[in-house]
Amino acid sequence: MRILLVSDIHSNLVAFETVLQSAGSFDTIWCMGDTIGYGPRPNECVELIREHAIVIISGNHDLACLGRIDLNDFNTDARKANIWNGRQLHNDHTIWMNDLLPQIAIDSCYALAHGSPRAPVWEYLLSVEAAVANFALMSQRGCFIGHSHVQIGFRQMSYAEHGERFMPDLRRVSSGSAVVDLSDHCRFFINPGSVGQPRDQEPRAAYAILDTDAATVTFARAAYAIAQTQRQMAECGLPTALIRRLEYGM
Ligand code: ZN
Repeated sequence: MRILLVSDIHSNLVAFETVLQSAGSFDTIWCMGDTIGYGPRPNECVELIREHAIVIISGNHDLACLGRIDLNDFNTDARKANIWNGRQLHNDHTIWMNDLLPQIAIDSCYALAHGSPRAPVWEYLLSVEAAVANFALMSQRGCFIGHSHVQIGFRQMSYAEHGERFMPDLRRVSSGSAVVDLSDHCRFFINPGSVGQPRDQEPRAAYAILDTDAATVTFARAAYAIAQTQRQMAECGLPTALIRRLEYGM
């Protein structure tokens, strides 16, 4: 199976549609949350994800838009955008989103969490130390995450010849190595990056493809019409700083 991995779409419909086109053929989508918040097209993005995704979880911005977590946990611009996004959302989408959880076990092999297994709503899993602590809390072999808007992964390798299940040589992989090998009984965290608001100084929309037969994840980027999303945001009266950051990938 080819599974399109997306996260943090953040109501950026132009970016999301571009990713759907550039990803090639895929069997389904797994989405690690924050489908809405920040951007100008919440309903259209929820509609598309409902159409394509077989597994989807909620993120901190989704929950804030739904009024489920305190808006004071966000900075002024993010708060404004969350309030605006929440107000736009059609009732049917609100009901559907209210049922989503911030983490989910797919099977004995894979799990999804927005932030991390340890703190699914809020943790930014960006360090080896955080990865090690989270591996200890996870029964699955691998977990796909989002939240940091950074395309990154961590692998914990096992070497049968040592007679131990997992050696502590945790390897960090990132978009620098586009294809990540998930075979050899490694355990892993993979963040495909953000579709709608990348923050790794690379403004192109980020995503990844999981090939379950080949046991690989391939990181990818897609250039989209950033100016079009920015125009839509301006028309919706969304904060200027949120509009500008898209072109810098920050
Ligand atoms: Zn996000």
